[in-house]
Amino acid sequence: MFFSQLPTPCYVVEEALIEKNLRVLKGVMDRTGARILLAQKAFSMYHLYPLIGEYLCGATASGLYEARLCAEEMIRPGAEEKEKSIGRLENHIFSPAYGEADFEAILRYCDHIVFNSWRQIEKFGIRAKAAGKSIGLRVNLECSTQEGHAIYDPCAPGSRLGVTAERFEEAASGEGNGGSSLISLVDGLHFHTLCEQDSDALECTLDAVEEKFGKYLSRMKWINFGGGHHITKEGYDIPRLERCIGRMKERYGLTVYLEPGEAVALNAGFLVTTVLEIIRNGMEIAILDTSAACHMPDVLEMPYRPPLLQSGLPGEKAYTYRLGGPTCLAGDIIGDYSFDKPLQEGDRLVFGDMAIYSMVKNNTFNGMPLPGIALREKSGEYRLIKQFGYEDFKGRL
Ligand SMILES: *Cc1c(COP(=O)(O)O)cnc(C)c1O
Repeated sequence: MFFSQLPTPCYVVEEALIEKNLRVLKGVMDRTGARILLAQKAFSMYHLYPLIGEYLCGATASGLYEARLCAEEMIRPGAEEKEKSIGRLENHIFSPAYGEADFEAILRYCDHIVFNSWRQIEKFGIRAKAAGKSIGLRVNLECSTQEGHAIYDPCAPGSRLGVTAERFEEAASGEGNGGSSLISLVDGLHFHTLCEQDSDALECTLDAVEEKFGKYLSRMKWINFGGGHHITKEGYDIPRLERCIGRMKERYGLTVYLEPGEAVALNAGFLVTTVLEIIRNGMEIAILDTSAACHMPDVLEMPYRPPLLQSGLPGEKAYTYRLGGPTCLAGDIIGDYSFDKPLQEGDRLVFGDMAIYSMVKNNTFNGMPLPGIALREKSGEYRLIKQFGYEDFKGRL
């Protein structure tokens, strides 16, 4: 299939760009012995799980369904295809709270289960241990390394994510829920605080880990640095990341896990859209067949301005347009962009960095069709993996 034959709107993920990111991550693993997992919540295009499983050490899930997807699409095919991958790929999970209804299945699929409170360990820890699972506890370091985005800051005041040092000590000393025996169930500590950050923020975070939980680290088997590390972004300081990994390995004998989502598929996907109509209201406005609200929700939520191929900032090139979606939402605006030539009905536009937090978050508000999912193979050939229709809209209502 050629690019011009793709239906729009359509996400296109480029295999070679995913592999480029995977090679960077594999380099970190090879040089440090760290184990890197895909955080599926950012990118769950399971067609590429076999490829991802060739490079990384498995995946992590935010709940039962993602854990099952990893088991079905990354671990099982890998084990059949390659003897040596048996036991190499791991299936991890973290949730702020597990429910009884899911837990038996979680025990079936997962190798590492990370809990968010001592009470959760009290409820499920013995069963997980008896099933041979590695048990983690998420800690809250109360160490914010970012400003502004409170909804992306698990260390913000009142956060529900992770056990603070105070609560950790209460339980470890036997004062709080459960008593001191609970700590003997814990194999590793987990933190996740570094949304889109560089390794200088990781370094500060590790200072907080040592200050608050240092005396418990030697009795752990592993530490999980969570996600957010922008490892595949240009300019990210990889040597510093590797020193951070070495520090935890050498001082405490810990296996280090990282579970990036963004970094795996950063800048590896596109969203192809068609200009439906051009209208004027004090400025030129192009209405596209894709919607910020439905197909790129992070544009409104983060918010950010997605890159658009062959365009400039407003006013930078001769013709400036506001690009918006076909929904009822007044704020369904992707942004203002400029072009060398006037836009025409039927033109195709290609937004960049659309692999992550896009197809996993999209929705059919206004009855909008979901974009297709295509792969640009290494040969340059386009392959349509999925197309969605009316039944996908109706089926979830
Ligand atoms: C979101 C999340 C990740 C992945 O974060 P990225 O910013 O996509 O790298 C990893 N672990 C946990 C616990 C998360 O919540």
